[in-house]
Amino acid sequence: MNAAPHFKKIALIGFGLIGGSIARAAREQGLAGEIVATARSAKTRARVSELGIVDRVVETNAQAADDADLVILCIPVGACGAVAQEIATHLKPGAIVSDVGSVKGAVARDMAPYLPAGVHFVPAHPVAGTEYSGPDSGFAELFVDRWCILTPPPETDPQATERLAVFWRALGAKLATMTPEHHDLVLAVTSHLPHLIAYTIVGTANELGEVTESEVLQFSAGGFRDFTRIAASDPTMWRDVFLANKDAVLEMLGAFQEDLSRLTRAIRRGDGDALFEHFTRTRAIRRGIVNIGQDSAAPDFGRPHGSLPQVPKPQAADGE
Ligand code: NAP
Repeated sequence: MNAAPHFKKIALIGFGLIGGSIARAAREQGLAGEIVATARSAKTRARVSELGIVDRVVETNAQAADDADLVILCIPVGACGAVAQEIATHLKPGAIVSDVGSVKGAVARDMAPYLPAGVHFVPAHPVAGTEYSGPDSGFAELFVDRWCILTPPPETDPQATERLAVFWRALGAKLATMTPEHHDLVLAVTSHLPHLIAYTIVGTANELGEVTESEVLQFSAGGFRDFTRIAASDPTMWRDVFLANKDAVLEMLGAFQEDLSRLTRAIRRGDGDALFEHFTRTRAIRRGIVNIGQDSAAPDFGRPHGSLPQVPKPQAADGE
């Protein structure tokens, strides 16, 4: 196993769920001499200072990038190009520049033109998250046993890619490398489409006239509750994901609509065999995910396991 790399200065540009989790985990693992962070708003920067997780909070992206050995953009994908332009002249030769964006093709296209020669560009996507955002939402264990996908351009020095891979492994992640195009296709089906479906179904349920809003909330079954959790994800981040991964999402959405039409037809025709066969296949996929350790086999109870409610005992009758 490789020893954890020691970066003299790590700059985190953006400090929400992902930036905050990297800071916490990198600090716990002692991966940096200094962790410097910045965020767009004064409010977030003040909160990061209060949290005391990083060594220094600076006001501008350029100040963060100055003299850093590793710069990670932890901001919505739509903002990555402009920030790359802003920090370009502040990057020191030999620095590794990375990001954590959920879309890789567009981010690489937006950032690469601004990065000077002598800087190593290694885009990354930790496939780990929650529906929470902001500087308080991060935690050090977020990346443990989760995949981090690197999509280095062909001209990137493999040693820089390996150095970043070792960094992510030290945060607990498992590493994969692929092209940005392949990443975007895979994630369109495993992440982007499910989010779009969740956003749709929660919106649909909310607009149904004959089912009151309070009934939707009160009787939300496991399936719907899971959708509401996903649909609570950050609107800015997800707007940017769909805009940046338009082609792959539209391709997957086309396939999804065809499958949905097949199931609609099976229900309309009372074709139980078709439904049973489909649900059997999807159940096997779920088992496969559990078997490779990507999720727990524990039943999703939807709330913490607690004790049964106290049922008042019948009062003993006088004289017994
Ligand atoms: P977040 O909690 O909302 O934090 C975003 C950070 O980016 C904040 O510090 C915010 O600053 C800053 N920011 C927002 N807009 C900006 C802009 N236009 N220019 C510069 N900075 C800006 O988001 P996150 O969940 O950490 O997501 C960050 C990145 O990680 C996204 O690219 C996302 O695709 C990727 N990602 C997310 C997840 C997930 O589940 N959330 C998983 C994997 C990857 P202020 O607070 O000052 O506004």
